[in-house]
This record gives sequence, structure tokens and C-alpha cells, in this order.
Amino acid sequence: MTTPLPPGAWIGIFGGGQLGRMAAVAAAQLGYKCHIFSPDADAPAKEVSAAATTAPYEDINAARAFAHAVDVVTFEFENVPDDTLAAISETVPVRPRVDALHVSQDRAIEKSFLNDHGIGTAPWAPVNSADDLSSAAILTGVPAILKTARFGYDGKGQVRVDNGNDIAAAWDSIDNAPAVLEGFVDFEQEISVIVARGIDGATQSYVPVDNVHRDHILFTTTAPSTVADDITDKARHIAADIVIALDLVGLLAVEMFVLRDGEVLVNEIAPRPHNSGHWTLDGCAISQFEQFIRAVAGLPLGDPSRHSDAVMTNLIGGEADAWADIVVEAGACLHLYGKAESRPGRKMGHVTRLSPLSGSR
Ligand code: AMP
Repeated sequence: MTTPLPPGAWIGIFGGGQLGRMAAVAAAQLGYKCHIFSPDADAPAKEVSAAATTAPYEDINAARAFAHAVDVVTFEFENVPDDTLAAISETVPVRPRVDALHVSQDRAIEKSFLNDHGIGTAPWAPVNSADDLSSAAILTGVPAILKTARFGYDGKGQVRVDNGNDIAAAWDSIDNAPAVLEGFVDFEQEISVIVARGIDGATQSYVPVDNVHRDHILFTTTAPSTVADDITDKARHIAADIVIALDLVGLLAVEMFVLRDGEVLVNEIAPRPHNSGHWTLDGCAISQFEQFIRAVAGLPLGDPSRHSDAVMTNLIGGEADAWADIVVEAGACLHLYGKAESRPGRKMGHVTRLSPLSGSR
């Protein structure tokens, strides 16, 4: 049994965005110090952390020095290059483990992994060559969505295909990158579950939440989800099954589609804190960020139950300009990420509006 990191220990985080920033604040609350590794000198997480390295993720020497300076390494962003991870894994524990990270870096590997473990996804097929295009469309049917296998987020690298003849053009538009074609799911509701797994193998999940996307970017999260209790149970079981199958220590976000007949399919997984868990900062005694740090530091997991219902709304681009109104609104908890430049589609902050706890879930 690994002993927990003592207060004062160093947690290294690859990635310097808002997820790293909120994780570093949670780590500080538990007495830990964070060292952020990111190529961006002005990264939001660096503003609130005790140490920072500014270097490309491919810089193996900088990564080695970073690994020597910390007691454990984690990440708030999945796409850390393999060579970098291999170089640091010799020096310092990496949590979640690198193999679990690999699964979530590539949509084809991720979907194969899920299906191999009996977990349903939208019908899908890999697209690695022009020859794959027509056979993939036969398998998924149309409409479908062509998604790059790697490096996609917030709808980037995704093209909708309405007609079998459009697929070649869609693949050209993503530069013929390795991709997956996914059948379009006529879902009733999008939900997600955030599950933590501790170093002792214990798992704890937050209540499933309803997610609404706008322009492929998360717009609102409502906690708890409005889906029926049996679907809530099913969703939590699916998330726990995946985190155990991955042998992952840390946090796993599982995005799911709920179909009209009650079937639950997994859309994607992310082995880190997730935007759909931001409400836990204000709606739970132990937020997803504290739970993440607890798992990574080898502490026992905390109680994920909520004390309030919550609706989280992302503040995208110029929407964050409303901060002065939000900050005086009763029951509204404002979080701004300290990003210097506002751009359309950029997540600048979020607001969580609390209401009294409903129901027993
Ligand atoms: P993703 O980047 O895969 O999470 O996709 C972003 C959003 O696009 C999802 O949250 C859904 O709203 C929508 N979407 C993605 N894949 C599908 C699908 N196969 N069927 C229907 N909607 C989808």
C-alpha cells in the first residue's frame, strides 16, 4: 500500500488551462504545491501555482527536470507525447497510468476498448484510407459524424456527413487524418458521470448530470440529471466499470448519450477533471478537483454527495463580460480563469447557480 503524499509535497501537472488552475487551488487547500508544465508562459494554472516550467511538451530534457522536481505527475490534458511520458515514468509515479491515458488519446482505441468490455457506443468504424470510406458508411449508416481519431476537442476535427457521397470530401476536409466514422445518435439526453478511483481501488462517483451543448461546446450542466433513477444507476455502473477496467487512479469523466428506449451509450471518456464537473466546486463539499488531487496524492477519496442542486453555465468569449452583473446575483458562484485574451469559443469562466437539494440521489 502506497502511503499518501504528505502536506508540502509537490504535484506536477502537464497542462496549464483552467482545469489545471482549479486543480492547483484544490491542491493548495490540502497543503500541496503544484508545478505546472505548459508551453504557454501565461497559462491560467501558472498564476496560482508554486512553480512553473514553460517548454514545449516534446522537450524531453525539460520534462526530465520537471519529473525530478516533483513527487507525482498528473495531467489536465490528454495529449502529452509518448516520448515525454516514457522519459518521466522512470523517475516519478504518473497517475493516471500512461496506458490508461493511451486509451483516451485515440478515439478508435477508446471505442475498441469500450466495446471489448461490453460497453455500448454509437456504431463506428475506423477510417485510415480511402478504401475504408464506403465500407465505414455502410456500417454506421448516415447521417454520421467523421471525427479525427486524435487531438479533437470542443467539436474541432468533426464533420457531419449526411450522404454517403459526402464522406470523401469530409475526409479531405480533415486532411485525410486517421479518423473514425460514427453513426449519428438521435439521443434524448446527453449526460456525464465523473468517477474517481483511489490508490486503494475504491471508486466514488458524482451524481449523473445533464449536459447541453451549443456549437459543440458545453453550454450548461444541470445537477442532478433529470433521467430516471434506473438510468442514473446504469450510468454510474458504466462509469465505475470503465475506471476499473482501465485500472486508473485519478478521475475519469464519461460522456454518455441516453436513447429514447433507455439505452445508454458512451460518447467519450476523459481521464481528468471535466467541464461537466465544475458545478461540484459549489454544489459539493468535495469538488471534482479535490477528489482528483486526493486520488493522485494517494489520499482516501472524499464523499462526492452534493449539498445543493446546481446549474453550471459556461462563459464563452464575450459572455464573461457580464461578470459585474453575475457577481452580485444571489446564489450565483462566479469563476473566472484569468485568461488575458477573449476569443469566440474560448472558455473564459463559468457561473454555477445553486438551489436547495432535491430528491434523494
Ligand atoms: P465529442 O467531441 O465527441 O464529445 O462531440 C461533441 C458533441 O457533438 C457531443 O457532446 C454531442 O452533442 C455531439 N455529438 C458527437 N457525436 C455524436 C453522435 N455520434 N451522434 C449525435 N451527436 C453527437
